[in-house]
Amino acid sequence: MKPKSNPLQQLLIPFSLWHSLIKGLRRKSQGIRESGAFLLGKIGGNKVKLFVFYDNLDPECLDSCIISFDGAGFVPLWKMCEKKQLQVLADVHTHLGKVAIQSEIDKKTQ
Ligand SMILES: [Zn+2]
Repeated sequence: MKPKSNPLQQLLIPFSLWHSLIKGLRRKSQGIRESGAFLLGKIGGNKVKLFVFYDNLDPECLDSCIISFDGAGFVPLWKMCEKKQLQVLADVHTHLGKVAIQSEIDKKTQ
């Protein structure tokens, strides 16, 4: 019997969308701060349809070198999700430096 797979275990994102996301994260971080975005897709799905940068929801969240996202920023995110019938599938953010790992804070606040 084939095990049931969880569709959220593997995310799919079109290359052009991923490219735009990475380009935007690089532009926003400018190599001096972190930046990030929420990845949105259809409810119950695993394909990313669009993304929204953290600072489009909380304009001050990138004011220091680390991300400090205010909970009030979730309100416009939830409204966007409701309007477009999407959900947050994941989020992605950068760290300073060249190593791509989850920080201890990331592991504790997933
Ligand atoms: Zn992190």
